[in-house]
Amino acid sequence: MDILKAPLQKIQTEIGLKAGVELSVLREDLSHPFLSGNKWRKLKYNLLDFKNSGKKAILTFGGKFSNHLVACAAAGKILNIPMIGILRGDETVINPQQTFLKQCGMHLLSLSREEYRLRENAEFLSELSERCVREFPELISFPDELFMIPEGGSNAAGVRGCVEIMQDIPIDSTHIMVACGTGSTLAGISIASHEKQNTIGVSVLKGENFLPESVVRQGAPKERTKILFDYHFGGYAKSTETLNLFCKNFSNHYCIPLEPVYTGKLFFACIDLLSNNYFPKGSKIVLIHTGGIFDFKKPLDF
Ligand SMILES: *Cc1c(COP(=O)(O)O)cnc(C)c1O
Repeated sequence: MDILKAPLQKIQTEIGLKAGVELSVLREDLSHPFLSGNKWRKLKYNLLDFKNSGKKAILTFGGKFSNHLVACAAAGKILNIPMIGILRGDETVINPQQTFLKQCGMHLLSLSREEYRLRENAEFLSELSERCVREFPELISFPDELFMIPEGGSNAAGVRGCVEIMQDIPIDSTHIMVACGTGSTLAGISIASHEKQNTIGVSVLKGENFLPESVVRQGAPKERTKILFDYHFGGYAKSTETLNLFCKNFSNHYCIPLEPVYTGKLFFACIDLLSNNYFPKGSKIVLIHTGGIFDFKKPLDF
């Protein structure tokens, strides 16, 4: 399987020059057309754990625009692993993502939002496994043949994969910034950071008071892990004209594609902090581009 090492791209911004800081982007979005970004990092050890488990299929969860499901479907196709994707919401929308999941051979099952909310409840998961035996007899004969990966790949194995991101970040960088949903990616890079580095997460969700605690619970050192809550633009998957325009202009100017759900908010936050002289002179800032932009028109030739 060919996963490229993410290149580090230096970017020259007027605002960065003025502030006397160096700005680079770790292009995790370029590691693979579909099995890319932090979703690949979070899957790596989950896939190895699956291989070692002797189980027959992977069961995982996501919304209808889930980058995690895209990565899982691609991994299933490339590694020939039977995949079951549990979708949130029972309305049947056909978007390019769903078509892609199906083309990769992922088996899909939709749950109502109420059921989906129970996705971490042990009793519900055992019922769901029984249901999968009935729905997909060609894949599994018993519930315990299923290997479960939580939504977003955000478990301990996922964090372990994200720890490895730091191997691709220069040791003399002073600030490492990443977009934060569950905070597993932030936890991974924080764990691998050294005491002179600051890791900064930009929350893409609104009012996620549990996040700092959750990131520390996932292993991040509290004293050098910071989360910013002022750049959610209304909440998860919400955007504004300002953010949309920012993404468009930035993408055009630097040839780095951004979308408004995750990376747009991260980059916006960084530029805003720069203009407020947040970073001391001489700082070396690395932004982690976590992916999330796919060309679903690309032929499936992997
Ligand atoms: C899932 C995702 C994130 C959030 O990662 P967490 O580990 O859940 O914080 C950030 N960026 C992109 C592009 C993602 O798909």
